Amino acid sequence: MRVPVSDLVGNPGETRALRRDVEAAAFGEDPWGPAEDGVLDPVELDLHLDAVVEGILVRGTIGFHVQLACARCLVLQDLAYTVEVAELFQDPTKREDDDEDDPGYELVDDLTAIDLSTMARDALIIDLPVRVLCDEACKGLCVECGADRNLTDCGHRPEAAPDPRWAKLADLDLPSE
Ligand SMILES: [Zn+2]
Ligand SMILES: [Zn+2]
Repeated sequence: MRVPVSDLVGNPGETRALRRDVEAAAFGEDPWGPAEDGVLDPVELDLHLDAVVEGILVRGTIGFHVQLACARCLVLQDLAYTVEVAELFQDPTKREDDDEDDPGYELVDDLTAIDLSTMARDALIIDLPVRVLCDEACKGLCVECGADRNLTDCGHRPEAAPDPRWAKLADLDLPSE
């Protein structure tokens, strides 16, 4: 998602607000990695773009609406996140040689724009929980029939079911003494 900044570049001290709701698709194709398909519209930008000598400093918050499946019952959960960001988009012509290991974010399009896609993705992924539960007490899915045990009592009692390894033993025709 490119934002023109030619009015700011080279004018340290200038600042501009960027408050806008944008579509998740504006951040490019497949930008969300593990949250693929999980990021809903809109993505809410509430940012300030500050012109500094080294480039453009982007700071503020990005609001995300994310859908992730409960780790036990797989029902999709709607989550809202607000992630704080503060990132420098460097003017590559002002780069010091010893920065080369970590290129970070840079001005693009001949120093006239910044691309927020990677920054937004990085901000989201850092805060994304690896495991979501609809409720701490979620009973999950029945291992025998797949029923959602929060919604229905299918009658199976997985806790009481015999260990399948022992069930195999029971089928063996062992010689009796
Ligand atoms: Zn659940
Ligand atoms: Zn069942």
